[in-house]
Amino acid sequence: MTGPAAALLAGLVWASSAPAQTGFTPEARSRQRALEAGLVAAIRPADLDSMARVLSAAPHVAGTPGQAAVRDTLLAWLGAWGLEPEVETYEVFLPHATEVELTLVAPESIAFDLVEEPVAGDPVTRLEPYPWLNGYSAPGRVEAEVVYTGWGLHADYDRLAELGVDVEGRVVVARYGRAYRGVKARLAEERGAAALLLYSDPDDDGYVQGDVYPEGPWRPWSGVQRGSVLDGGGDPATPHGPSLPGAPRLAAGALAERVPGIPVLPISYRVAGEILSRVRGADIPETGWQGGLPFRYHVGPGPARVRVRALDDRDGPRGGVKAIHDVVATIEGTEWPEEFVVIGAHIDAWGAGANDNVSGTTSILAAARAIRAAATLPRRTIVVAGWDGEEWGLLGSIEWTEEHAARLGAGGVAYLNQDAVGGTRFGAGAAPLLAASIREAALAVPGEGGSLLKEWRGGDTEPEVGDLGGGSDFEPFYQRLGIPSASYGFGASGGVYHSGYDTHRWMSRFGDPGYRNHARTAQLTAVLAMRLANAEVLPYDVSGLAGRLDSLWAPLRVMAVAAAGATEDDLARLDRAVDDLQAAGEELASARERYLSGRVDGATSARANRILIAIERGLGRESGPFRDGGVRSLTFASDPRNGYATLALPGIATAVREGSRERVRSEVLDLAARLGSAADRARDAARLLGGGSPGPAVPATFSAPERRADNPSQEVDAW
Ligand SMILES: [Zn+2]
Repeated sequence: MTGPAAALLAGLVWASSAPAQTGFTPEARSRQRALEAGLVAAIRPADLDSMARVLSAAPHVAGTPGQAAVRDTLLAWLGAWGLEPEVETYEVFLPHATEVELTLVAPESIAFDLVEEPVAGDPVTRLEPYPWLNGYSAPGRVEAEVVYTGWGLHADYDRLAELGVDVEGRVVVARYGRAYRGVKARLAEERGAAALLLYSDPDDDGYVQGDVYPEGPWRPWSGVQRGSVLDGGGDPATPHGPSLPGAPRLAAGALAERVPGIPVLPISYRVAGEILSRVRGADIPETGWQGGLPFRYHVGPGPARVRVRALDDRDGPRGGVKAIHDVVATIEGTEWPEEFVVIGAHIDAWGAGANDNVSGTTSILAAARAIRAAATLPRRTIVVAGWDGEEWGLLGSIEWTEEHAARLGAGGVAYLNQDAVGGTRFGAGAAPLLAASIREAALAVPGEGGSLLKEWRGGDTEPEVGDLGGGSDFEPFYQRLGIPSASYGFGASGGVYHSGYDTHRWMSRFGDPGYRNHARTAQLTAVLAMRLANAEVLPYDVSGLAGRLDSLWAPLRVMAVAAAGATEDDLARLDRAVDDLQAAGEELASARERYLSGRVDGATSARANRILIAIERGLGRESGPFRDGGVRSLTFASDPRNGYATLALPGIATAVREGSRERVRSEVLDLAARLGSAADRARDAARLLGGGSPGPAVPATFSAPERRADNPSQEVDAW
């Protein structure tokens, strides 16, 4: 069916299922819809494909000429699109490997060739990416017997201890998976290991899962997962502020305590097989330790012995310090320029990085280009940022947020992150305040069944938006500054992560043939950013936040009683605070809808928005939930025991882990008070929108309400 009848019918269908677009007046809604249709049409898969081809032509590790070339390409493109990008340079401790050797010395001698084999037909795989040394590994020279430690986590070492196997002074081999590799490095060092070898077992990430590259998407025999083992984030040498040139830096001794003290090497499952097949001693303690290599695994120690030799440039003239360069373009808001929506993706990689993270880079570039070329500029400022040094420990984003903490704290509305988005299945994690906005925006992006939302939803339930844990550049925005954040895109099946096989050809064949999902991620980003930038009243979903906290509190509450001996009396205050926040959120939502369907007044909207911006900021405290570190959020953090996983209500959860009833009580009181303030703010905004009395003074920083907004840089402390 075509022609006017179809158009009319389509119009009727459209009107009857008027897409939710929270935060806009009816008239603004239709203007915004037209604007969004233009953004979606302007973002074409072929453009992302050709950008990706250029950006993934060669390895571009932070601090190398390859990465400088990527930076210059971004500057040229953004400049040509009228975006006036700037470079923000930081000087960070970033030691690069200079020599890495691994040799089996017993029961026989094999000098391993630490190279990923090139694949015919994919010339980029001939360009050797970063050497086989994990980021921030210590240099060193070690020769010792080998012990296999399963996943190399707490419980695994406990099992070894039960078997009477001591890892002290030995070279330990651990599988990747289940936790951030930096946690494994820290544990190996704490247990006295002399060196750690990390490998991807084919059972998790290789031929057991499916055909390996180039026949299929999975990790081939010589594929290696590189990656940082820094425990924490940001430049370890400048814990107190941004690593601007000339900034005070920790002396070598103090710095050494903040980085791993043993050599940590990523190895292929081929090399791991050569070593592990020569490990005997005790049988593995549980069946889960058996991987997919074709022999029975044992824990040792020995008789396999290896020699590790790893050198880096930290003893060189610059002490391992290098410049990293964020690329930042600002599209100034026409009405509320001091309020920001930040779109970011990291622009460094371990190799050619077609998925991680050329995919995210092309997404923010395409979104920025479309937004800049749109018929109307955004009402709030949109900042587009390419972060350097993410792979080493979120260096570029943490240093940048430290430098700009004051203005971000005062006016940050949202941060949208894109990291490894070029796969087949859409997924999203977000601050609960933003979850509904993502679902609403996904309705404006094409997809199977009519929209990305339909495709994402599958059946007829609402699609799940996950909680943000750790491992990418949303961390400093969300967990340190209290800016509602989101991270989304299409996940890839298959294992070329951090290897030399994460290439344009792999992506074109297996990850996202045709680059359609790259384009759809960019379309979602453009639509979502423009909505958040143009909304008359910010669309934060406060009752959604309360609902999410309620569902996370329920199981933790049970544990607080069981593991810390908390009583009903200790905990009831948080139950009430969550319920009250729910009610306040509903009052806000209906006041917002009423206000937007009536006469809107710019000054009232602006004041309500100032109050709404403060809600997330109030959910953290200066001292944070953990003993050390820059994380301040008391609602969501990354679990220090895991590094990637979310730890919900981290203050209370930590108290429960400590088994401390006293601390559980004080954490419950603290969070209940903060949720109480959030409810007050939601009601203040609701009253204001309903024509009531003005809202109170609003703190602009994440945590302490008594702090002054004009001096928040002091609030950025060490992680
Ligand atoms: Zn990444």
